[in-house]
Amino acid sequence: MTQNTHMENLRQIAGPDGSTSEADILTPHLTEWRDKFHGSTPLMLMPADVETASRLIAYCQEYNIKLVPQGGNTGLVGGSTPGLEGRTEVLFSTKRLNKHCVVDADNFSITADAGCTIAELQTQAAAHDLLFPLSLASEGSCTVGGVISTNAGGIHVLRYGTTRALTLGLQAVLPNGDILDELTALRKNNTGYNLSQLLVGAEGTLGLVTRATFKLYPREVQKHTCLLAVDSPQKALKLLASARIASGDRVSAFELMPRFGIELVLKHIPGTSDPLGGSHPWYVLTDIANSRGDAALEHDISAWLETSIEDGVIADGSVAASLSQAADFWRLRESMSEAQKIEGGSIKHDIAVPVSRVPVFLAKASDAVLELIPNARLVAFGHLGDGNIHFNLMQPQGTDKLQFLARWEEVATLVHDIVTGFGGSISAEHGIGTLKKRELSRLKSDASLAAMRSIKNALDPNTIMNPGVLFNE
Ligand SMILES: Cc1cc2nc3c(=O)[nH]c(=O)nc-3n(C[C@H](O)[C@H](O)[C@H](O)COP(=O)(O)OP(=O)(O)OC[C@H]3O[C@@H](n4cnc5c(N)ncnc54)[C@H](O)[C@@H]3O)c2cc1C
Repeated sequence: MTQNTHMENLRQIAGPDGSTSEADILTPHLTEWRDKFHGSTPLMLMPADVETASRLIAYCQEYNIKLVPQGGNTGLVGGSTPGLEGRTEVLFSTKRLNKHCVVDADNFSITADAGCTIAELQTQAAAHDLLFPLSLASEGSCTVGGVISTNAGGIHVLRYGTTRALTLGLQAVLPNGDILDELTALRKNNTGYNLSQLLVGAEGTLGLVTRATFKLYPREVQKHTCLLAVDSPQKALKLLASARIASGDRVSAFELMPRFGIELVLKHIPGTSDPLGGSHPWYVLTDIANSRGDAALEHDISAWLETSIEDGVIADGSVAASLSQAADFWRLRESMSEAQKIEGGSIKHDIAVPVSRVPVFLAKASDAVLELIPNARLVAFGHLGDGNIHFNLMQPQGTDKLQFLARWEEVATLVHDIVTGFGGSISAEHGIGTLKKRELSRLKSDASLAAMRSIKNALDPNTIMNPGVLFNE
């Protein structure tokens, strides 16, 4: 059969509204958020139920048709772009798998279809006075299937864990078309391998996630958002430890930002302003929160801030006096990627090292990259509470963007070697995708890579699901 016949057969299985090849509709699905990857596809499939998804994937398996799952297309490593590296791949969108989003309040859990956005889950949980703690700047667009497949992190990992920790169970279509029903809402379930967790972080290589159940928590009703200036990452680290102890471990977010990053936001993002007067090398943005109003917590935070100022740990700071002021503080942090994008080209690293090693990593990696590209502008920011830093380099002023970006691999090799030396990870939360597969094969042990390949071969021997990601074939 010709490719055209296969595409026609897939269209038939998908049913009315279940597929498209129209260029106008496809275009936004073929470019990645950073504009780094541009793909192509002969067909986008959009099944509206798991049974149709199963029939479509079984057909792809039978005729060895490659496919790329896509949720909100906010991934940052080229994992959801079809047709890269000369491959022909069908795009498998979950945009119509978005009907079911139901809270079980007594079980503190929520079950939602793969195509529901994270913002929808947060809203549903809040309607029951509960918290779905996954929170990231892309939450209005990124989906259940996407966050599971990338094991997304975000700002609340310090307190509530990554997507992996929040996932109780899931339903997926395996590469042979079987429907894997592990959609349990159980807290305890020791019945052999945890197959749901196998799909968390699998980046669409082991199956199409169609539905999932996550943990919920009591809603944070009391929240203190503090923007604090510090002289160094070392002082920020000290502040993290003292905040956790002083608050009875109620720190739910702890972010580090450099002055240059703040300046980029002030320059490019309308309506932003600097809440602190002077200029300081580093800033910490922290939320300390509680699920009930607690005057003692307020008192503890005031005492912690006073002591930290007296001890010279905090140089300046402000505690948000209202929800809207807290949102303004968070806007500085959440707009940091957007502001860099507007300013110019960036070479980006999403790394993790043990929390205690962040300051020394920053010092060593900054020296190394500035020796390589002397006038590069560093924007190292992120989730200090998790040891996860987005170690980004902006093109030197007045230089050519493409020439600078052409040095991505050279710079990444340097940074990743330093990360590895600290026992760290070259992908803390964005995944491997297409972008980092060579680095993964260079830096992961042979035994780990062999085990990963065995799992892939067992479930997807013809490599039909996302063939271009994770593995450097
Ligand atoms: C402004 C911005 C801020 C961000 N901040 C964070 C952050 O703080 N923390 C963080 O972790 N990430 C962050 N991200 C990255 C991104 O939002 C996450 O990786 C998110 O999980 C991707 O979800 P998605 O639905 O957009 O997935 P997509 O981008 O569509 O896909 C991502 C990967 O998952 C696979 N996939 C998607 N759906 C399925 C499915 N149903 N079944 C199987 N595989 C599937 C794709 O094939 C691809 O490999 C940010 C991105 C942006 C643009």
